Amino acid sequence: MSGSTAASFTADDYRARMERAARTAAEAGLAGLLVAPGPDLVWLTGYTPPAVTERLTLLVLAAGQDPVLVVPALEAPDAQKAAGAPALALRDWTDGKDPYAATAALLDASGRFGISDNAWALHLLALQQALPGSSYTSLTEALPMLRAVKDTAELELMTAAGAAADATFEEIRDVPFAGRRESQVAADLDRLLRRHGHEQVDFTIVASGPNGANPHHEAGDRVIERGDMVVLDFGGLKDGYGSDTSRTVHVGEPTDEERRVHDIVREAQEAGFRAVRPGAACQDVDRAARAVIAGAGYGEYFIHRTGHGIGVTTHEPPYMIEGEERPLVPGMCFSVEPGIYLPGRFGVRIEDIVTVTEDGARRLNTTSRELVIVE
Ligand code: ZN
Ligand code: ZN
Ligand code: ZN
Repeated sequence: MSGSTAASFTADDYRARMERAARTAAEAGLAGLLVAPGPDLVWLTGYTPPAVTERLTLLVLAAGQDPVLVVPALEAPDAQKAAGAPALALRDWTDGKDPYAATAALLDASGRFGISDNAWALHLLALQQALPGSSYTSLTEALPMLRAVKDTAELELMTAAGAAADATFEEIRDVPFAGRRESQVAADLDRLLRRHGHEQVDFTIVASGPNGANPHHEAGDRVIERGDMVVLDFGGLKDGYGSDTSRTVHVGEPTDEERRVHDIVREAQEAGFRAVRPGAACQDVDRAARAVIAGAGYGEYFIHRTGHGIGVTTHEPPYMIEGEERPLVPGMCFSVEPGIYLPGRFGVRIEDIVTVTEDGARRLNTTSRELVIVE
């Protein structure tokens, strides 16, 4: 990922994050965390390497030690510029030297380590060889809530990303839909997201007519027609923090059935939102939204979880899904996005990012959830 990180975080912010991560890892029985380039490294240090290559870059957060960033010597000057650099020691290695032996020297030889999910197998296998007594587990599985609770500055960035996505929706309503390909409307979404400050666009779903019944349909050659329902789902990163919103629009006047299905999804989305409060379980949000759709007789057509976390990536824990009993905590940000998908006909999805507050929840997307008519 190429997400730049907001300049608003200081070395002290990153120091606090690394300390919290190390403490949480120790509480989980881990000897430390090994963090490869990607969202966890961005969140912990503010550092994104110029390119992710086979050369090892790895943040080592080991119990009882100061943070160390193992980095290729030729990239050390870049790493030094990261906002979190003053909070860690750089350990650079030159081509021809063995970076794994150098990393192994920092680690408890029989320890169990959390390693970031996007670390290359190449690196993990070499570490295992260098330290045969060590073992490894997925960082996301061991510490799923590491990045989930946002602080005040992060919430401001999340709010701004949501507002930029909302501005995009307000403007996409006015572009022509009928007679244009999905891919053309998707290009409009991309352009608008960037115009409203996104440096990275992760998805621009335009799913018209029967394509709307496939939640993962991206955007293709289909020409949008009058009478189509069109699911729009778009987002990316603005100043390093994510947006993700869905609205379903109709080209011209909808039928009674289309209005009814849209109303059901809107009520389900509202019920999911109302279930969000500190102490409620993640699965309660899913249950609340699902109960509305099932109660209306469309239960078998709601074919995905109700929501996912969002932060320095657009999809991450916590997940709003049956069986996820972890409690909601103020500062968490996630989507509430129920849908109904009628195979061969049309789909409806409505998605807002919400954040848990001290006494309930706040929406970070505030555009109308009524069925919008486009031309
Ligand atoms: Zn229609
Ligand atoms: Zn979405
Ligand atoms: Zn989403």
